Amino acid sequence: MTTRHLYVHVPFCGRRCTYCDFSIAVRRRVPVDEYLAALGREVELTGAGATETVYLGGGTPSRLGAAGISALARLLRAGRGLAEFTLEANPEDVTPERVRAWVGAGVNRLSLGAQSFEDRVLAWMHRTHDAARIAEAVRTARRGGIANLSLDLIFALPAAQQRDWGRDLDCAIALEPDHVSLYGLTVEPGTPLFRQVQRGDAVGAPEERYEEEYLLAHERLGAAGYVFYEVSNAARAGREAVHNGAYWRLEPYLGLGPAAHSFDGLARWWNEPTYVGWRRRLEAGVSPVAGHEILNDHQRQLEEVYLGLRTRIGVALPEPCPDKLRSAVDQWVGAGWAVLEDASAPPCVRVRLTPRGWLRLDELVSSI
Ligand code: SF4
Repeated sequence: MTTRHLYVHVPFCGRRCTYCDFSIAVRRRVPVDEYLAALGREVELTGAGATETVYLGGGTPSRLGAAGISALARLLRAGRGLAEFTLEANPEDVTPERVRAWVGAGVNRLSLGAQSFEDRVLAWMHRTHDAARIAEAVRTARRGGIANLSLDLIFALPAAQQRDWGRDLDCAIALEPDHVSLYGLTVEPGTPLFRQVQRGDAVGAPEERYEEEYLLAHERLGAAGYVFYEVSNAARAGREAVHNGAYWRLEPYLGLGPAAHSFDGLARWWNEPTYVGWRRRLEAGVSPVAGHEILNDHQRQLEEVYLGLRTRIGVALPEPCPDKLRSAVDQWVGAGWAVLEDASAPPCVRVRLTPRGWLRLDELVSSI
């Protein structure tokens, strides 16, 4: 498969965060060589090579350190010329030496897991850093040559945390990131938070607060010059994520590493979810792919609508527009959940969701 977009899943974390249900491998010592040897086999099997964007996600890819990321970049034949080479990092991993090595390896965008600027909240989340470390990591990354920096924040925490979301947004804005990604906390089965909720030790945020905090983020980030170009992502002009944009446009991408997904425009496939399972298959010379699905026309169309409505560009209404669809869209516009815009190339009417509409994204897509 030829693709311009490469995702690599690096599954290692020091411990599991309270809310996390990602495919991770908790390791005090990261088995860098063992992981890279398995990844090297997958690169050989797939013929993967970096062409336009590379995204190292996890897990915590920054735990591979300076030498680990440099070796990984060599495996992928990635270098300094890529349009976007993103590394997800936890603040405590960002040191001047590592940033120097990462930039030397071609990394030009850092996505930093900040989540909150309150130490008490970070401790509850089971994060491995405190608030002061976030600002220090941002300064270190900037000084080391990272011009494009994104911060991740989580909202809608349980009320018992008494988290000041407005203050957290202000702290994030004060660091002048180029990009901000927001995650609304959901209670996922199998997470430490799920068990807390089952024991009655925590209660998830009610829908009203989810809505309030989401809209507050739009207000504060909007006032600071950020544009929400996707339901969960806001950026300064020209700093929209190139790699993630490929997902939303249903462009082909190749995923390597445990639990990684790939898509060639027609079919989607995914790797063994656990680190050990993925590695063992590769060591045995077997493909790590665990399953696949082929999208039929209806599924593809549905995904195009769903993904399009996630973005600020929205989707074009078909011409002629079926009465039922037009009346649903008119209702959304009347309720303040969507706006209609005339696009000149190609000439069409596009519908895009407002922040209040984005809060109802799943419901609105189901309704049509
Ligand atoms: S650092 Fe990220 S991937 Fe690792 S446990 Fe925490 S939320 Fe999950």
